[in-house]
Amino acid sequence: MTMLKIDMHTHIIPKNLPDWQSKFGYDGFVRLDHHKDKWARMMQGDKFFREINYNCWDPEARIQEYKKYQTQVQVVCTIPILFAYFARPEHGFEVAKFLNNEIAELVVKYPKNYIGLGTIPMQAPEFAVKELQRIKDIGLVGIQIGSNIEGKNLNEPEFYPIWETCEKLGLAVLVHPWNMMGKEDMGRYWLPWLVGMPAETSRAMCSMIFGGVFDKFPNLRVNFCHASGSFLATLGRIEHGFKCRPDLVAIDNPNNPREYCGKFWVDCITHDPEMLKYILKIQGSKKVTLGSDYPFPLGDLEIGKFVNEMNLDKNIIEDIFCNNTLEWLNLKKDSYL
Ligand SMILES: [Zn+2]
Repeated sequence: MTMLKIDMHTHIIPKNLPDWQSKFGYDGFVRLDHHKDKWARMMQGDKFFREINYNCWDPEARIQEYKKYQTQVQVVCTIPILFAYFARPEHGFEVAKFLNNEIAELVVKYPKNYIGLGTIPMQAPEFAVKELQRIKDIGLVGIQIGSNIEGKNLNEPEFYPIWETCEKLGLAVLVHPWNMMGKEDMGRYWLPWLVGMPAETSRAMCSMIFGGVFDKFPNLRVNFCHASGSFLATLGRIEHGFKCRPDLVAIDNPNNPREYCGKFWVDCITHDPEMLKYILKIQGSKKVTLGSDYPFPLGDLEIGKFVNEMNLDKNIIEDIFCNNTLEWLNLKKDSYL
């Protein structure tokens, strides 16, 4: 029997987005310019962001592509630039609802091929909490959020109602780096993606750990992208900082940050078997999940082929490829066989 493979980190976008800029009367919202067959330009106002292929929106094309790597299911969420955290609360709410309805429809149509994560207006927790309930009702199993919310860190008490609601409803959380710190100073060499992104994820993790979020909300099920970014790779330094300057680091939480490893999940996107071995050791093999960042070129578009080639025990591979993701999302394997 072939092993079930669930790719838990992929992005999807509706083929047609409303013109929110015209509707709401200010810019920053993403629109798609379908300038040629099978391709679109993502635009923010008149500013070009990225050219995307139809595998960003076409569910059948995606299935054909991921099947080539023996993958049966994709967990889908939006492309972080669509979060619209800058928007006024009611507008952010509307954008989130639109994105969530699209993914919910996809999941209804392809229940064996797609699992959906929603978007919430993090800038407006009262609306976010409402949308969390709706997310649950329309069949999505969690949310994807950014590593910072318009510069605010995830330890801020204003986000507590969101964590509390996720816990109550049993919704999982995927923290994705975005809006990279320092990007204005490092436009050259793709540095926001190579340097800023891993730092953003570590920023989110350190904020949540030092802010005591995992202690206040012990049943929160959080997964961090790109194998935790730079967090696990620099954990020695983070722990040492906690020990040598508790007056700076341990002001809100007396626990050693290392104790939190294995309480959250991380994906396996390291592009480096040695690093993944280290992460499996420190996180435990039950807390590492198969992700690809499909369909973007910085992702692992061979969807875990390198994991297969690491000479890991077959049970560990199966845990990474499906069991750990099912546990994170609180789903049953039978639904996908
Ligand atoms: Zn991603």
